[in-house]
Amino acid sequence: MAHAPGSTLKPLVELGKSPEQCWRWLGRVTDDGRAVKQFNNNPMPAQRWMWSQLFGPIKPGHVIYSTCGDHACCNPHHLRCGFIADANRAGNGAVLLAEDVAQLRKDYDNGLDVDRIAAKFGISASYVKQVAKGRSWGKKRLHKVKAVAA
Ligand SMILES: [Zn+2]
Repeated sequence: MAHAPGSTLKPLVELGKSPEQCWRWLGRVTDDGRAVKQFNNNPMPAQRWMWSQLFGPIKPGHVIYSTCGDHACCNPHHLRCGFIADANRAGNGAVLLAEDVAQLRKDYDNGLDVDRIAAKFGISASYVKQVAKGRSWGKKRLHKVKAVAA
């Protein structure tokens, strides 16, 4: 059977009419508007999945974020790979992923230097402490995102 260009992506996203338009994710989207892809029997952020399919593995501590402000957009032209700080500077309210928070708390509990953790995630040392102690990641929000990344 011939492999038509786009046949892998078409059932997953609704392409824009021009390359600049957002690609609407047709799969699951969380209550806070984040696209979710089921991959190897695990849910993962669809933007992260899209990026790794196209560009390869994502370096530890890096996040994938959209520059168009739509968390469910999977147009690779709108996606960037960077630190949390880059995502926050992009101004779309990107937050730590549940897996980042889990890793951050593990590092913190293991006594890793706070400044090293901060550099790893591209956030400030004081923010590391807040997240590690659960102050910046409210239970409701963490629960929501955890359900996505569990
Ligand atoms: Zn977009």
